[in-house]
Amino acid sequence: MSLQMCSQVIQPDKTKSIQKSTSMENSTTKNNPYYSRTDRTKLNVPNSEWKEILSADVYAVAREAGTERPGTGKYNVYDEKGEYYCVVCGNHLFRSDAKFASSCGWPSFFEADKEGTAYKRDSTYGMERIEVVCKRCDSHLGHVFNDGPPPTGTRYCMNSVSLEFVGDGETASK
Ligand SMILES: [Zn+2]
Repeated sequence: MSLQMCSQVIQPDKTKSIQKSTSMENSTTKNNPYYSRTDRTKLNVPNSEWKEILSADVYAVAREAGTERPGTGKYNVYDEKGEYYCVVCGNHLFRSDAKFASSCGWPSFFEADKEGTAYKRDSTYGMERIEVVCKRCDSHLGHVFNDGPPPTGTRYCMNSVSLEFVGDGETASK
């Protein structure tokens, strides 16, 4: 059921380019003047500008609400301890303690950083869903469902492309 819900939203033309360039992640933040792990001031950057800053795969998911192919994301099967940030702006989104093994093909969390995430109604593809976006830069992260595990019963179904992981003990300097 949940697998089907997720699979239906894949846009073939976008996922193709995402798959081609999965090794490009993190190169995106080098020339990004908006990136900060401490500043939570709301950003109002037009997509025309983001397009110059972000790599094609990040732009397609984060700014055009694309979806990476299930099972292909670098954080799908990944259980290191640390923090997950918005790859676009550096805002804190999730803690690894809230990540769980989901069979849906995307990294899944049962709890989000309330200061880091916001929600939007999404009626595309003939479904009523709740889109999860970064509270600071409005980038698309994924969707949230109510079929998650205890204690919250919530499942944040995220795109790895939109996330950046920093392990405990790693220096946060870039
Ligand atoms: Zn962000």
